[in-house]
Amino acid sequence: MTTAKPQASARMPDARDMAERLLAGERTALARAISWAENGDARYPAFLAAVYPRVGRAWRIGITGPPGAGKSTLTNELVRTLRAREETVAVLAIDPSSPFSGGALLGDRIRMEERTSDPGVYIRSMASRSSHGGLARASADACDVMDAFGFSTILMETVGVGQSEYDVVSAADTVVVILCPGAGDGIQAMKAGILEVADVLVVNKADLPGADQLVLDLEDAVRMRNVKRPLDQGMGERWIVPVVTASATRAEGLADLVAAIDAHRAWLEAAHLEASRRRRRVEQVRRVVGERLAEELWGPLGNTARAEALLGQSITPYDVAEEILGAILSSTPHPVTDPDGPR
Ligand code: GDP
Repeated sequence: MTTAKPQASARMPDARDMAERLLAGERTALARAISWAENGDARYPAFLAAVYPRVGRAWRIGITGPPGAGKSTLTNELVRTLRAREETVAVLAIDPSSPFSGGALLGDRIRMEERTSDPGVYIRSMASRSSHGGLARASADACDVMDAFGFSTILMETVGVGQSEYDVVSAADTVVVILCPGAGDGIQAMKAGILEVADVLVVNKADLPGADQLVLDLEDAVRMRNVKRPLDQGMGERWIVPVVTASATRAEGLADLVAAIDAHRAWLEAAHLEASRRRRRVEQVRRVVGERLAEELWGPLGNTARAEALLGQSITPYDVAEEILGAILSSTPHPVTDPDGPR
C-alpha cells in the first residue's frame, strides 16, 4: 500500500532506526512513522514494538461536531491555551474522504502545518480516504506515534459526525463535542447520537443568538437521558457531562473548556483510566485483526477468484459467502483458549 518509489524505499531506514530517531526527537521520523501507520506499512509493527514503552503518557482529546460548529477555530484556541501552560500539543486533523472535496482542505492543512514554527506544536492531517477504510485503526496508530514522541496532549479533530468520526474519537481519553446555535442543530445532534460519545459538550458561538437556549436544551438532555458513553458501562460512579459555553472567534470560554477536560481527566485517573485504556487497546486489536484478515482473505488466500468461480445463476452471494466461510473455519485449528486452565 505504500506509495514510496523503489529507489527511495531502498534508502529508507528500517523500523529500529526509525524508532531511535523518533525517540531522539527527530520531526522527520515523526512524520515518516505516522505515514507508515497511515499506509499500513509492513515496518510499522516492529517500529511500534520498539517505541511502545513510551506510549501512554499523552492525554488524548477527541474533538467532533457538525461541520461549521467551529471545531478548527476552537482547536486552534485550545492549542494556544494548552501551550500557555507549557504543554506540548500534537493535532491530528482528520479530513473528509471525498476524492472531490478532500484535496483542497488537505492542502490548507498542510500549509497550516508549514506555518507552525512553535516546536511545542505539531499539526498533521490524515485524509480518511488514504487509509482504505481503516481510519480508526490508522488514527489510533498515529496517536501512538505522537504519544511516543513525547507530546503531552494530542488533539484529534474530525470533520463531521458520522460513524467513522465516532470510531476515531472513541479512541480518545476525553471526547469533546462541539455544537453551535442554529436551525435545530442541538436536536439533530441528539438524534444522531452525538451526545452518547461526549465527555464534554461545548456550545460554541455563544456570541450568537440562541446559544443560551441550546445550553439549556443540552443540560436538559444530559439530565433526562442520563447521557453516558456506552463504553463507560460498568465503570462505577458516573461522569456527569458538563456543558461549556464558548466563543472561539473571541477566544472566550477556553479556561472553562480546559477546566472541564481536566475534571474529566481527574475522574478517569481516579479509578477508570486503566479500564478505559484497556478497552481502547482491545478495540485496536480487533481493528488490526479485522484489517489483516480482510487483506489475507481477499488477497493471498484467493477468495475473490473463488467467489467469481462459484457465482452462477443458481447460487446466491450468501451461498458463496457460506461456502468460503465454511472452508476457512474448517481449516482453522482450535486454539487453546485458557492457558491457565487444567492441563
Ligand atoms: P468547523 O467546520 O467545525 O471546523 O468550523 P470552523 O472552525 O471552520 O468555523 C466555521 C465558521 O464559524 C468560521 O467562519 C468561523 O470563523 C466561525 N466561527 C467559529 N467560532 C465562532 C464563534 O465563536 N462565533 C462566531 N460568530 N463564529 C464562529
